[in-house]
Amino acid sequence: MSSTPPESSAPSEVRLKDLRRTDDGIALLARVVSANRREITRKSDGGRRTMLSGILTDGTASVRFTWWDPPPEGVERGTVLRAVNAKVREFQGHLEVSFDGRSRVAEASPLELPALASAELPRRPLASLRPRDEGFSLEARIVRIGEKNVTVGDERRVVYEGVLGDASGTLAFSCWTDFRLKSGEALRISGGYIGSFRGRPQLVLDERAQVDRISGAELPGPERFANAPPRSIADLEVSAGGVDVCVEGIVVGLSPPSGLVYRCPTCRRQTQGGLCRLHGRVEGEPDLRARLVLDDGTGSATVQAGRADTELLGGFTLSELLGRLRSQPDPSRFEEELFERTFGERLRVRGDASRDDFGVSLYPSKIERVLPVRAPPIEELERRLKEVLP
Ligand SMILES: [Zn+2]
Repeated sequence: MSSTPPESSAPSEVRLKDLRRTDDGIALLARVVSANRREITRKSDGGRRTMLSGILTDGTASVRFTWWDPPPEGVERGTVLRAVNAKVREFQGHLEVSFDGRSRVAEASPLELPALASAELPRRPLASLRPRDEGFSLEARIVRIGEKNVTVGDERRVVYEGVLGDASGTLAFSCWTDFRLKSGEALRISGGYIGSFRGRPQLVLDERAQVDRISGAELPGPERFANAPPRSIADLEVSAGGVDVCVEGIVVGLSPPSGLVYRCPTCRRQTQGGLCRLHGRVEGEPDLRARLVLDDGTGSATVQAGRADTELLGGFTLSELLGRLRSQPDPSRFEEELFERTFGERLRVRGDASRDDFGVSLYPSKIERVLPVRAPPIEELERRLKEVLP
């Protein structure tokens, strides 16, 4: 009696959404979303090893991967890999895969990736999507779109970037494929995934994404998104930032550096004692900025205000301050003045939000003071009381 030894049969590939912790090697088929190559120095003997790490996706989920001693080239964004005997491990609460000397990894055709029907995928509101999400469909309207020429290796390519909106909020997106998208169009999208770009979630559409025009009768009109209602800072923390958001809160502090600053004329970095981190001693150009700490009761965020907004909030102009410097050589006075004028003010801030280890930052496109609702004069109240009381 004989049976085929199990190791001779080709192991079937695990879908990434079904990935589980196991000590056995697994087989998988997935596309490289990002890959970074690093040289690691071994502590024991100082020997060097190459490690490639990044994100893999098969359309059902995305996972981090590490690859020890990868081939010297040929693995980049978009490459589809078939791996046999890959290891699964848990790192910081997430499962990830690693390829080592016992794994066999080879390039495969994108056509081998499993096809995903959009009807199979759950529909998700934009505000619920988080970095690394995958395997969803959505319906949204294009709030704006533009194109940008970028150089990838030796190649010039066009990337289409913009913002999508639905009733739940807005989300940045980018695609390398020209889907001939136009501002205001309503779309049903599946096969995209959520990446993170400059500390913000972003929907990435590659050639496998399915984009269909729909009537969009249920979606808010384009004008809605320019005046989106405020979102809570706690919510922005959870969603890891966002584009075209609106936040309303009270100024509770001013973080340094705020007020009059000097910038390197070449790279616009702020100079310290006449020195630029990159360009050494430079003739700094004066500028104004304010790092306002805004609190909305659910959390606090730093509003990174530029010169125009700082002038508006501080009630002074840059040239005025430079003139005053002659008689008042200590510029920290301007920072105090800015603090006095803004502390306790209620502001409505529109712009992009990003989240990093220090919390949520808002990059304003528009800052408005929200005037407190003025209490009616006492005579008015008495008159109204007389009307309602017998
Ligand atoms: Zn510089």
